[in-house]
Amino acid sequence: MNTYSFSPGRSLAVQLDEQDELGVYRKEFYVNPSTIYMDGNSLGLLSKRAELAVLESLQDWREHAIDGWTAGQHPWYTLSERLGALVAPLVGAEPDQVIVTGSTTVNLHQLVATFYQPEGKRTKIVADELNFPSDIYALQSQLRIHGFSPEENLIRVASRDGRFLDEEDIIAAMTDEVAMVVLPTILYRSGQILDMERLTAEAHARDILIGFDGCHSVGAIPHAFDKWDVDFAYWCNYKHLNGGPGAVGGLYVNRKYFGKLPGLAGWFGSDKMKQFDMEHQMTPAETAGAYQIGTPHVLSAAPLLGSLSIFAEVGIERIRRKSLLLTTYFMDLIAHELDGFGFTIGNPTDEKRRGGHVSLEHPEAARICKALKENKVIPDFRAPNMIRLAPVALYSSFTDVWEVVQRLKAIMAEKQYEKFENQRNVVA
Ligand SMILES: *Cc1c(COP(=O)(O)O)cnc(C)c1O
Repeated sequence: MNTYSFSPGRSLAVQLDEQDELGVYRKEFYVNPSTIYMDGNSLGLLSKRAELAVLESLQDWREHAIDGWTAGQHPWYTLSERLGALVAPLVGAEPDQVIVTGSTTVNLHQLVATFYQPEGKRTKIVADELNFPSDIYALQSQLRIHGFSPEENLIRVASRDGRFLDEEDIIAAMTDEVAMVVLPTILYRSGQILDMERLTAEAHARDILIGFDGCHSVGAIPHAFDKWDVDFAYWCNYKHLNGGPGAVGGLYVNRKYFGKLPGLAGWFGSDKMKQFDMEHQMTPAETAGAYQIGTPHVLSAAPLLGSLSIFAEVGIERIRRKSLLLTTYFMDLIAHELDGFGFTIGNPTDEKRRGGHVSLEHPEAARICKALKENKVIPDFRAPNMIRLAPVALYSSFTDVWEVVQRLKAIMAEKQYEKFENQRNVVA
């Protein structure tokens, strides 16, 4: 897989599949043979190991009832910590710095409630105008809780071209009125990777805390949160980590804050040995576990036991290597086959800046997506003009990518999209 010399024929795709050392993992997933799934960055596919882990957890409930907290195959009392330890290598952290809990949005609320401590004129939070709406809503509401107006205190760094953020612009927004910066690791639309190491160093040089939303990067690219000294991070586990719809999310907290009282406290943030003392004075865990709130959602965490065992076996470096080859091949095919149909590549082409998906822009994107679905390709659409296509290293093949481009070419050449309305569906 190290050498790559592009040619447009199907034979190259077949050859790349034959050389693919991760190809064996495809059969671990429920890949529908009649469709080509390109939406694993919104909801990853079910694996057989994840399914088995859920069944085992049900069995634990059936056989042990209340004793399932400490007995059975996957004792629930320490499940969140155990899963955190499994995610830790994927984000570049020690096991006790990661906990599987909450959801992306809830974890952001928790982390802002814990770490946003406005003082004097340092009241502002820096975010960006391209971030996912839920993150922005959470930040706005946290500012309101503190009695600040989001209009004045939430700085959304502008994008120069509507696709990408420039680190220079973010750094310029880090003034002495800023208390905290919250940014995505990878932008959900364009797939741009931000330079987290540099941004963290620049924030810290100005006494500003910085946290990252890892929804689009955890399970797709390697991270070094600990080495980069990132203050906190949070993410969902249902995209690249294949934890299932609404799977319990994750968070990372830098070791230097261990012992800091959680902004949103609850008994599951307690030191595990003290939790059942039932005292009204909380003793928070001396780990990232302190930022849990209530009883874990065991059945929504269980699939991760199976899913993460695949990541532990394969390693994120190999996943990233294949993912880059898949997206390189994708872009080469698009350039060769779709020239003249009005598409623009809306993701960074540089490997250091490119996440796990390809973003194709087109004025007719909404109805091209509908035509793709009719042609048994599952993309996703992001208003107003973006088709996101995510070939996933663990279960997508190079022939999948080749097929998608052929079907897209036919849709464009035959104008098949014209029979659909150019409007998104309720869930896009
Ligand atoms: C998917 C995603 C979310 C979703 O948040 P939930 O709380 O899991 O609904 C939030 N932010 C970003 C950047 C995302 O990509």
